This record gives sequence, C-alpha cells and structure tokens, in this order.
Amino acid sequence: LTQLFRPLDMLGMVYRTIRQGLIDMAEMFRLLDEPQEVSDRPGAPALVIRQPSVVFDNVVFGYEPDRGILKGLSFEVPAGQNFAIVGPSGAGKSTIARLLFRFYDPQQGRILIDGQDIAEVTQASLRAAIGIVPQDSVLFNDTIGYNIAYGRSDATQDDVEAAARGAALLGLIDRLPQGYATEVGERGLKLSGGEKQRVAIARTLVKNPPILLLDEATSALDTRTEQDILATLHRVSENRTSLSIAHRLSTIADADRILVLNEGRLAESGTHGELLRIDGLYAEMWARQAAEAEAMIEAAE
Ligand code: ATP
Repeated sequence: LTQLFRPLDMLGMVYRTIRQGLIDMAEMFRLLDEPQEVSDRPGAPALVIRQPSVVFDNVVFGYEPDRGILKGLSFEVPAGQNFAIVGPSGAGKSTIARLLFRFYDPQQGRILIDGQDIAEVTQASLRAAIGIVPQDSVLFNDTIGYNIAYGRSDATQDDVEAAARGAALLGLIDRLPQGYATEVGERGLKLSGGEKQRVAIARTLVKNPPILLLDEATSALDTRTEQDILATLHRVSENRTSLSIAHRLSTIADADRILVLNEGRLAESGTHGELLRIDGLYAEMWARQAAEAEAMIEAAE
C-alpha cells in the first residue's frame, strides 16, 4: 500500500510546489502590477553602473494612443540624490516608476540610467539595478527568511540577518516562535502593514541595488510606525539614488529635490522651502493637506 501512496505523495508535493510557484508569480505580477510588454533587443548588453544617475529626456507616453499621460517629461536625478515626485491623483507618478522599470517603452524620448538608454540594455540587468519598496508589500506563503532573501537567490543567512537589522526587523524576528523559519503570509502568521513594509525594505537591502524606487504607502500606518519606517527608509536611501512617489507631502519634505507633476509635465521643481516660496501648485497642495490634517485632529478631539 505504501508503494501505491508514495507516487501520490510525490504528486501532492509536485502539486504544492507548482501551486506555490503560481501563487508567487501571481503575487509578483500583482506587486509589479503590470504585464510584460517589452523584450530585449538581440545582443543587448547589460547595464553597467558607475554613477547611478536617472534621466527622463522628453518622455512622451500614454497607455492608449489617444490619451497622453506623460507629455514631454524631462528631469535628471544626479547619482546619490534622493528625489520625490508629487502631483495630483492620476498625474502619472506611478507611470514614471513603471517606465523606469521598463514595463513599457515611451512613445517618444529616452530614459537613461548612468548615460545608458534603458531600452538598449537587458531587462534583467536593469531590474537588478533597481529596488522597489512598494505601497502594499506582498508576502509569499513561506518563511520570513525566504521572504527577505527573495531578491537574491544566492543570499546567505548572514546577508538575511544584516538586511533584517537594516530594516529594524530583529525585534520582531526574536519574538517569532521559530525565528527566520516562521511561516508568514496568508496561510502563516499575519504581519501588520508596518511589519510587511519592513520585510519589503529588508528584501531590498538583500538585493543591494544602486537605485531605489519608493512607492509611498497610501494606506495609513499609525504615525509612530510611519515615522519609524521613514527613518529606516532614509537610512537605506543614503548613498543611493532614490525616487520616492509620494501621496502625502509631509513624508518627503526633506528630499534633495521635489518634482511636481501636473497634466503630464513638470510643473515645478525645487526643495520644499523653494517650492513654498514659489507659492504655486506645491504650496497649494501643502496648504490643503495641512488643513485636512488639522480637521482630522479636531474631529478626533
Ligand atoms: P495616484 O496618486 O492616484 O496613485 P498617479 O499619479 O500615480 O496617481 P498613475 O497611476 O501614473 O497616476 O496613472 C496615470 C493615469 O494613467 C491615470 O489616469 C490612470 O487611470 C491611467 N492608467 C494607469 N494605468 C493604466 C493602464 N494600465 N492602462 C490604461 N490607463 C492606465
């Protein structure tokens, strides 16, 4: 009888492995939120990074031909600087992130990293150079150690622990019943929004990319957690080039430069102080968010 069941057992294992694979892929697509629409050109070289600057050079892009989203967008993030992108909802902020990761090619213009057109290099080398900390981090149904190591197949336990330390996760892992071997995700231990985001930060640290794309959480974390996570992100962004997509302006006030996107173009750009002095769109958005925050505090009292 055992002879009969062993193959069935094996089949069960294969089924579980495949199913896990499918869940991972589904989660990955949900995470990256886009289908694959581009391919490598034959013989494309790998991206070589010495000074990880990011340039959008007159980029024109729309998802549909008759509805332009970016209408000739140009900006440069010098290597090592932390820039933020703000703008009204639907202005195209996340679209910039998708183009940088090359889910789509611009209809006109170029995107350069360290002087190389990203359409001319392999996608694998491009994506290895960019770490994403998404709004809503997805955890795979596996151990917390697997979730942290996910960005790099050759990560050692030392790499995982260093990343967990960098993302301020050691306290949590110490409290978990089986440490790094604790199952998390839908079928394991449920982590809070802030804890999931820390896992995403640790995942990025293991990958150690020269460029970071931070897609700020719209889902509210409590203020204390948010401050802690922001402090961690600041530390992680030091010595890297980063682009933060921000919905709440309070989180990006100390960016090296803030790019204000409106109707597919760069409407304003400067530091927080400079933009307030210009007294334009950014100053208006800032005043509105401050009023909303005040109203929320009053409502709570
Ligand atoms: P928010 O602050 O609300 O997240 P955003 O500035 O990040 O907005 P994007 O997500 O870049 O805006 O979207 C810009 C525009 O492109 C929106 O009008 C959106 O409806 C449209 N859009 C986004 N993704 C697609 C898609 N896959 N196909 C067609 N249109 C899309």
